[in-house]
Amino acid sequence: MIIDVNKKNVKKVIRSTKKYINEDKIKYNIASDVDEKYKVELKNIEKAINIKNIEKRFNFIYDTVCDYLDSQYFGKNLCGFDENGVCEYYRKVDPTHYNGCCYREDRKLCEYFDEEHSVCTDRGISCKLYSCPVLRKKKIEYKVNDFPLLKYFFTFKQKLIIKYSLLKPKAYVMYKLMETVNEKK
Ligand code: SF4
Ligand code: SF4
Repeated sequence: MIIDVNKKNVKKVIRSTKKYINEDKIKYNIASDVDEKYKVELKNIEKAINIKNIEKRFNFIYDTVCDYLDSQYFGKNLCGFDENGVCEYYRKVDPTHYNGCCYREDRKLCEYFDEEHSVCTDRGISCKLYSCPVLRKKKIEYKVNDFPLLKYFFTFKQKLIIKYSLLKPKAYVMYKLMETVNEKK
């Protein structure tokens, strides 16, 4: 199925994603006047629809959203970490709390955090979507439904898994998502 997209209908086409999910194969024929942002979204939606294996599709969506979120944070120190490894939020509430959200309230460092290099060794999508009050005040906040790939390809229950699996690795989230698919069979 070929769908013509132009500047006028692009938002409507994206909103209609669910209508095309069960098509055998789709192709968006995108006019040059469509904004770059929407072109990228359509390219990703097209790819996701055309991946018929559900696990592979979820995997693609997961990685694509994580890549986007990483690109928004990378190299910007939006959490305002200082030289002691204390972020802006915890400087206010508890200056002895290192490594921000990766160091839990119960004083245990998340098992996926590499302390030597100060990085997450996994891809926790819920962690990447999370914004504390400090980030929200800076208008840095992402909702699951902000991403067409999450909004249109997942059920309500699956979205809850994506949002609330904080401190959990990708393998866990993927397992929980696939569990919901297998439940339906
Ligand atoms: S999201 Fe907030 S609490 Fe978490 S590391 Fe960033 S500033 Fe700190
Ligand atoms: S999974 Fe989340 S809490 Fe754990 S290291 Fe990665 S970003 Fe931090």
